[in-house]
Amino acid sequence: EAAAKRIITFCPELDQVLGGGIASGQITEFCGVPGVGKTQLGIQLAVDVQIPEAFGGLAGSAVYIDTEGSFMVERAVEIADACCRHLQRSAANSGDQAKQQSASALSRDSMLANIHYFRVRDHVEQLAALQTLPNFLQQHPQVRLIVIDSITFHFRQDFQDMALRTRILAQMAQQLMQLAEDRDVAVVLMNQVTTKISGDDQTRLVPALGDSWAHAATSRVILFWQDQTRCAFIYKSPYLPARTAQFHITPEGVRG
Ligand code: ATP
Ligand code: MG
Repeated sequence: EAAAKRIITFCPELDQVLGGGIASGQITEFCGVPGVGKTQLGIQLAVDVQIPEAFGGLAGSAVYIDTEGSFMVERAVEIADACCRHLQRSAANSGDQAKQQSASALSRDSMLANIHYFRVRDHVEQLAALQTLPNFLQQHPQVRLIVIDSITFHFRQDFQDMALRTRILAQMAQQLMQLAEDRDVAVVLMNQVTTKISGDDQTRLVPALGDSWAHAATSRVILFWQDQTRCAFIYKSPYLPARTAQFHITPEGVRG
């Protein structure tokens, strides 16, 4: 896993606890309370995946599956602009020709065009979107990232039939893992949390969707607040130590 290609972010501490960034060929799930920054991170990653190779990036594109309607184009524009500015500045300062060339080719418009956006309004559309992905990825081989924001939404609202829910979730988990592995893309899932009071009266954040879904992702990260600061904690991973990184959301996007 250490050899996986990784999406670097503008948050070195987060990259570090993730083993160098968001891994390709795997599923990374971010779970957290409303407002902690899941959607901001999803938009940021759809931009970060495009960072040119001269800067250590994947020079890829992204698929963004929006189940909640919370993707904001205006915000993506701000984050893309900030990314272009940052890379162009750093290229100019480095005197590195490869960096300067690739940075000058970046633009807001090209970055937005490289985010393939799908809006799914219920769980049937969500399943249908996943069915079309293998074909879509074949036609768009530059895609290195699939974001689903959130995996949870349509399965908390409309679901009475728990057996059906479990079956659909298992199928989705399998499809997503296969996509990650077959096409070597990073799959990033946003999930909600439920709050549980444990025996020692501590409140604990528990990822939503139950026990069988707990095995869907390769690694699970809990996003939470500590005092006034946002944190990301490696909650479950076969190879990453359980560490915490701090991050911030600024007008430029997700930062260290
Ligand atoms: P939900 O579970 O409701 O979907 P979420 O985890 O997706 O929540 P986000 O929508 O990613 O949460 O985070 C929203 C927060 O991000 C805002 O409350 C604000 O604190 C921060 N934020 C958004 N835009 C900006 C900005 N331009 N500058 C600074 N902070 C911002
Ligand atoms: Mg959100």
